[in-house]
Amino acid sequence: MSAKILVVEDEEKLARFVELELKHEGYDVKTEGSGRAALFEALANNYDLILLDIMLPELNGLEVLRRLNKEKPTPVILLTARDAVMDKVSGLDAGAVDYITKPFAIEELLARIRVALKLHPVSGAGGGVSAPADNAKAKGQLTWGPLVMDIPRHRVTMDGHEITLTNREFLMLKTLLDNTDIVLSRDTLLEKVCGYEYVGETNVIDVYIRYLRSKIDNVFSVKMIRTVRGVGYVINAWES
Ligand code: CA
Repeated sequence: MSAKILVVEDEEKLARFVELELKHEGYDVKTEGSGRAALFEALANNYDLILLDIMLPELNGLEVLRRLNKEKPTPVILLTARDAVMDKVSGLDAGAVDYITKPFAIEELLARIRVALKLHPVSGAGGGVSAPADNAKAKGQLTWGPLVMDIPRHRVTMDGHEITLTNREFLMLKTLLDNTDIVLSRDTLLEKVCGYEYVGETNVIDVYIRYLRSKIDNVFSVKMIRTVRGVGYVINAWES
C-alpha cells in the first residue's frame, strides 16, 4: 500500500504542483488550503506524513502542529519561507521531523519525504503494517534492559512506566539505541536528529542529551547515556 500524505498549502499553484508530483511517485495524496481544515483532516484520518506550510489562513502551521502533536505522532515536514529562522527553530521544537525552505527543488522534497517515512513509520496508517512477529526488533522495538522503545507507536516505557519524549528526543534516543556500544559524535547526532542542512551550534545536542537524562537517567536512577569526553555520546548494550 502506498503511503498517505497530507499536503497543507494555501498557495494553490504550489499545492497542485506538489500533489501531482507526489501522486506521480505513487503516494496517496490529499490537499488542504487552511490550517483549520488541515487539523480537522489530520485528526480525522491517519496519515503517514504531513507537509505543512507555516503561513496559512485561519490557523498557522505551527499551531496546527502543536494541536496535532497532542493527539497523535504523525510526522510533519514544515514548509518555511526563506530565512525564517525562528520558524524553523520553533517548528522543530514543536515536534516537526524536518523542514524544507521554499522555493525548493522537487527532488529535494521527495528525498526528505522518503527519509521521514523511513525514520518515522506510523502504525495503523496506510503504509502497510506487517504481521506481528515474535522478536522485539521485528515489532519495531528497541530495548535496553527494562526500557522499551516502540518505534511505530512512538512510545517509550521503562518497566512499563511511560516516558514522554518530544520528536527530537525520541530520534536522539533511537539513534543511540540503534548504535549501542558505538560512540556517536555530536556532528553525527546532529545530522541524524536535526537533519543534514541544520545550521547552528552542535551544543544543541548537549541540550537534548540533558533533556533525555532528566527524563530517563535521573527519574529511574540508571546510567544510560554515557559521555565520552571530547568525542560524543554512547549507550552501552544492556548487561543484566
Ligand atoms: Ca502559505
